[in-house]
Amino acid sequence: MKYFSTRDKNNITDFRTAVMSGLAKDGGLFMPLSIPLLPSSVISGTEKYSLQDIGFEVAKNFIGKEIPEQEIHSIIESAINFDAPLVQLSEQLSVLELFHGPTLAFKDFGARFMAKIMGYFVKGAGKKLNILVATSGDTGSAVAYGFYGIEGIDVYILYPKGKVSLIQEKQLTTLDKNITALEIDGTFDDCQRLVKNAFVDEELNSILNLSSANSINIARLIPQSFYYINAWRQIKDKSIPTIISVPSGNLGNLTAGLFAKKMGIPIDKFIGATNKNDVFTEYLNTSKFNPRKSVLTLSNAMDVGNPSNLERIIELYEGDIEKIRADVVSESYTDDSTIEGIKEVYEKYNYVIDPHGAVGYQALKHFVESNNLKDINAVMVETAHPAKFKDVVEEAIKNEVEIPERLAACINKEKKSVRLNSDYNSLKDFLMSV
Ligand SMILES: *Cc1c(COP(=O)(O)O)cnc(C)c1O
Repeated sequence: MKYFSTRDKNNITDFRTAVMSGLAKDGGLFMPLSIPLLPSSVISGTEKYSLQDIGFEVAKNFIGKEIPEQEIHSIIESAINFDAPLVQLSEQLSVLELFHGPTLAFKDFGARFMAKIMGYFVKGAGKKLNILVATSGDTGSAVAYGFYGIEGIDVYILYPKGKVSLIQEKQLTTLDKNITALEIDGTFDDCQRLVKNAFVDEELNSILNLSSANSINIARLIPQSFYYINAWRQIKDKSIPTIISVPSGNLGNLTAGLFAKKMGIPIDKFIGATNKNDVFTEYLNTSKFNPRKSVLTLSNAMDVGNPSNLERIIELYEGDIEKIRADVVSESYTDDSTIEGIKEVYEKYNYVIDPHGAVGYQALKHFVESNNLKDINAVMVETAHPAKFKDVVEEAIKNEVEIPERLAACINKEKKSVRLNSDYNSLKDFLMSV
């Protein structure tokens, strides 16, 4: 498959280059030249396909002949070795649970798939690859675990000091081997800016073989479309409209859902639910894109002031905001509504959600109620396990949240990080010295 840059349609490259460079040289994001429809046997749910089978069907379209099918098979088998079940809460409402991976958030899908793809391409290349990734919490741990121990690749994770939860920080800073955590005195946007600066720094790139692992990397998005297709297959009554609410920050997960729609799942509406960082909501409502500094919220993995993947969404809809509006709505919710949402879902359905899922729940509920929708399938995407945000959730439900063993394991380990300020030169100096 060939890929082009969102900033220049004539800037065309292959899958390998798109994955290994992350961002196009002109600063744009890579998009596939086409998004092929899947065979109806894969979509309809009448024949048996596992999540991995679906993954294989999707991935081979996005990769093409650059990786042999046998290899694509084993990449999927080892990367997507956990499930994404659709859990029914009521007649109308279900939850797409995306937290069954090793770091308990949906980013495991993208990070693990990307790590295996890069591991495949780097084999035999003879030159070490350095991955830089900015994280507002969950990306970093997913990437760290995804790449952990992969030969020929070193990973540097930039996270904003004091702005991720204790558990998130432990996940980021307790791996060794090829993983280094960089603790930046600044915000997530600073981290993202530092990474972007590094990629356009010719001097640095002439010395180091750099790549990114943020949701700007196309290899992160591809596996995130698998679970939307899998979810659609599990919808029982396909004759009524299906609405999916996606808790959104950098808009990678939403973009992957829109990819899945292009591949053939007839979702009526996607809701891009935001917290107080509502640049996307404002864009859809006013047609104005006004990126700004992010503010801190309880759903901190969505604290993004300049959502990168908007460029992809705009490209997907040929720059026509009316076309985007036909498929996507967006609403923004406060921390108070977030807590309210956790509480309400617990009381109504005896089900515990995390703060990100709660933002999605509120937007979904409001959309259903304000449009007076009755016969629909309402799907809320639960992007993280509630135990990752234990304090907030326990406060809301007045009950304890059990910590899964894979999370408990890292909490007692010792934190190791390198502290840097948010000035680009400190990052550069550090990278030049390793
Ligand atoms: C990253 C993340 C989000 C936001 O996803 P985007 O793809 O950046 O929009 C939502 N919830 C959780 C738990 C996350 O980790």
